[in-house]
Amino acid sequence: MPFSLLIAIYLALVGLIVGSYLNVVIHRLPLGISTVTPRSRCPGCGEVVRARDNIPVLSYILLRGRCRHCKAEISPRYPLIETLTALLFVACYWQFGLSVELLAGVLFCAAMVALAAIDAEHFLLPDKITLPGIAVGLLLSPWLEWSGWRSALIGALLGGGMLLALAAGWYWLRGEEGMGLGDVKMLAMLGAFLGWKGMLVALFFASVAGSVVGLAVIASGRGGMKSKLPFGTFLALGAVVALFVGPRITRYYLSLL
Ligand SMILES: [Zn+2]
Repeated sequence: MPFSLLIAIYLALVGLIVGSYLNVVIHRLPLGISTVTPRSRCPGCGEVVRARDNIPVLSYILLRGRCRHCKAEISPRYPLIETLTALLFVACYWQFGLSVELLAGVLFCAAMVALAAIDAEHFLLPDKITLPGIAVGLLLSPWLEWSGWRSALIGALLGGGMLLALAAGWYWLRGEEGMGLGDVKMLAMLGAFLGWKGMLVALFFASVAGSVVGLAVIASGRGGMKSKLPFGTFLALGAVVALFVGPRITRYYLSLL
């Protein structure tokens, strides 16, 4: 089926709404508050955010980034997350058309946006996202062109296993935790969704991006070898790259063999 502008616009709107919910997830999940109730309040004055002030992106622009009541600044993270989610949803439709891959793609992208933002702020990758993520990835895998159930199962076990071994090795060598179990579960989720090849592509890009940023932090003198980086944020970035160009990259390398 050819690319339909109407469906693309529909997916952008769905992306904005999902992005708006992800903002709630990102804010509340690390605090252990329900993401469904109660309604959102302004952290400045405690006033409940009304429906007309809760329209993704649009309300932020109309209110010029401030609370209607107390004029406290609203974090630009809110419209950014909404816009990013909408763009990723449209990109999934562009890439996969109307298919099971599209469903897997949007679910995966939404989870990656939430995990990236939560890890960047809290150094935390909640089980409430990664564990169901592993299950959903495995369940959808038989219908996914880029993986299949075998590749997904190997990906989940290999991804989780590799990081678990790395974390255990680090602990054994240094007597300290170098990596959280959150990263282990997240890489298992990447394997479940992307298959083992896609998982390796994601891990490669995450490591490169993490090293570049890590070296930049050290070079800028704002941190040393010991400063912590949210590896899950880089994993999410690598995962999105792997989702969209992973099969092309692995095809290219396999053709070289
Ligand atoms: Zn307020």
